Amino acid sequence: MYRALLIEKDAAGQHAAIKTLDDDNLPEGDVTVQVAYSTINYKDGLAITGKAPVVRKFPLVAGIDFAGTVESSSHPAWKTGDAVVLNGWGVGETHSGGLAQRARVRGDWLVALPAGLTPRQAMAIGTAGYTAMLCVMALEGHGLTPASGDVLVTGANGGVGSVAIVLLSKLGFRVIASTGRVDEAEALKALGAAEVIDRAELSAPGKPLAKERWAGVVDAVGSHTLANACAGTKYRGAVAACGLAQGMDFPGSVAPFILRGVTLYGIDSVMAPKALRQQAWARLAQDLDLVKLDSAVREIPLAGAIDAAAEILAGRIRGRLVVNVNA
Ligand code: NDP
Repeated sequence: MYRALLIEKDAAGQHAAIKTLDDDNLPEGDVTVQVAYSTINYKDGLAITGKAPVVRKFPLVAGIDFAGTVESSSHPAWKTGDAVVLNGWGVGETHSGGLAQRARVRGDWLVALPAGLTPRQAMAIGTAGYTAMLCVMALEGHGLTPASGDVLVTGANGGVGSVAIVLLSKLGFRVIASTGRVDEAEALKALGAAEVIDRAELSAPGKPLAKERWAGVVDAVGSHTLANACAGTKYRGAVAACGLAQGMDFPGSVAPFILRGVTLYGIDSVMAPKALRQQAWARLAQDLDLVKLDSAVREIPLAGAIDAAAEILAGRIRGRLVVNVNA
């Protein structure tokens, strides 16, 4: 038996509740994991509240990520006792997920927990932090260095934004943090932001080209914010787009791309190939200041995950929410 945040659907709609399930409820897979921690990412918020059709199979255990220990395995890469991390692959969407004491998945989806990270730290990073790393790697791969210029991080107080700030500042970049919560400016500076701007500067319709202000962007927000972020990017700079907190639209102009040679990188964490995931997790273990990260982490029990889902969509969570599934 194991406790899980189960999402069910009936004629009245979808409902989330903490349930005790027996092992027959575990889905198909060749590795069973004793989950230690999961998290609440923005997508979990959408899934648990039902505000967007993230969950496409019912009943389903929520949770797009988890860290834990292999309980049993018939997959050649994993044996009992191995410490593992999972992000994406449709887990928490079409395959039962990590907001549970036990999970069963395909061994091919798992990444070994990097040395130096505990399961709790891995989930303090979570899918949001792993995605921030993918964004930073895209900017680095483009050739950006701290000498290229500043990097803008949008949605700065959120999960992706907070981890991106900690990462970029440790790597020597001067970070401009864009937030709707300017009263949290000191917390953002403690994470490593050099400058904090009000997101209102970027969230309204803007010009095709604006003053060149940053060489790189990590954007978790989309919509007009992404368009304005591109418009303000320096000649031959790069923008890594991963999110849609403001909207899924992209009401921009081609001007930054064809007149300034700006490159827009799309970042997907869900189906990212295994080698890229392993590289991202190795870099997180190496480059992330875990003490700084910890200042942006709050731990909640499994029963707190349902309220937290509504809170994250309302933009009331600062940093990262770790879920202790055994509490
Ligand atoms: P969070 O809710 O933690 O952070 C989102 C932040 O965006 C908020 O904290 C807020 O920051 C800002 N924001 C919220 N609403 C608006 C708005 N209307 N206009 C402008 N800014 C807004 O979410 P996550 O960090 O977990 O995820 C961020 C985004 O990235 C989400 O859209 C998520 O779906 C996406 N994502 C995509 C992945 C991928 O694979 N591509 C993987 C992981 C996440 P502030 O208060 O500082 O303004």
